[in-house]
Amino acid sequence: MAPNAVGERRRLLRADFPAFLTALRERGYRVVGPTLRDGAIVLGEIRDETDLPIGWTERQDAGTYRLVRRDDAAVFGYTVGPHSWKKYLFPPRERLWSAVADGTSFRLEPDAAEPVADAFLGMRACDLAAVRISDRVFDRTAPDPGYHGRRRRTLRIAVQCGGAAPTCFCTSMGTGPGVGSDHDLALTEIVDPGPHRFLVEVGSEAGAAVLDRVPTEPAGAADVAAAEAAVARAAAEVGRHLDPAGVRELLLDHPDHPRWADVARRCLSCTNCTMACPTCFCSTTEEVPSLAGDRTEKWRRWDSCFNLEFSQVHGRPVRQSGLSRYRQWLTHKLASWHDQFGSSGCVGCGRCITWCPVGIDLTEEVRAIRADPTAVAPPEAAP
Ligand code: SF4
Ligand code: SF4
Repeated sequence: MAPNAVGERRRLLRADFPAFLTALRERGYRVVGPTLRDGAIVLGEIRDETDLPIGWTERQDAGTYRLVRRDDAAVFGYTVGPHSWKKYLFPPRERLWSAVADGTSFRLEPDAAEPVADAFLGMRACDLAAVRISDRVFDRTAPDPGYHGRRRRTLRIAVQCGGAAPTCFCTSMGTGPGVGSDHDLALTEIVDPGPHRFLVEVGSEAGAAVLDRVPTEPAGAADVAAAEAAVARAAAEVGRHLDPAGVRELLLDHPDHPRWADVARRCLSCTNCTMACPTCFCSTTEEVPSLAGDRTEKWRRWDSCFNLEFSQVHGRPVRQSGLSRYRQWLTHKLASWHDQFGSSGCVGCGRCITWCPVGIDLTEEVRAIRADPTAVAPPEAAP
């Protein structure tokens, strides 16, 4: 069989999907992807296909998420869960360096852990867009060696969406639901009266090298049409919208809009939105010395701009109110992110809407400010 080439479209039967997982492992990848855990579809290691959420989907909306059974055996019949791929590229806790006492000085110790090459199975178009954004974030001042090392080793296996959650607004942000670029392989699952199958599009040599080990055949016109119909169905199902036109100026020009106080009355400063967001990157570092004083480690862990102490400067936080913290988050995400990184910081995945315990919806907040940008707060409600 001739080796697969970049740009080729192949048909992979569902019955041969286990061989695809085996091929990934044979190429040296640790496969991570969707798994069922704690009542949600979260990312974890996939040892075999029984780890995948076969026949499951979710119902989600602002502040709501429930797993439900599908009436078919789709493998990727869900949208996005609370986890994003940032947990692998930018781990929630990471040791930056360690040092051991060496006479009167300290010696830096190399990390003994073997680097792992991950195959990200099931990245959605918005997830690929989030990684594109993170690539720029972690390259801004000096390339982050941990992030970029993991990123270079990663194989990205995208899955095109065949449906949208009520919280999705990727079509507004130009990030989905179709996968355009940056994938090594892109799968579209086809569940129709024909055989259960996948259309696989080869995006890179690394993707082709995996697919060479799997029984596939050239995709037919019917496979391509079915895949296109699935993506079109997802696009048609997207029901939330955020008009990105002029949003940067809208937010930066109206820091005193009364809507900020309104959202502050509802926001719990719980940080869920920033933890679930695939592009939020706030972190802090902590020193962990041994009790004997002969060793110390520097760790980085996720932080959030919703935490009071995150803006601590000279003994007091700069952003003391919930209003100032929510305004900082949204204004950074949709406005000043453009100045820092050349794009919006939002990919329209909707995670922050679903996982906000009080259902705060950034699309609704922007719409409210846009509807009456010159509104002024009554004197007693002013911040
Ligand atoms: S701000 Fe919300 S919708 Fe936008 S990328 Fe982050 S989690 Fe997704
Ligand atoms: S907007 Fe929602 S998720 Fe984010 S900090 Fe406030 S209450 Fe928590």
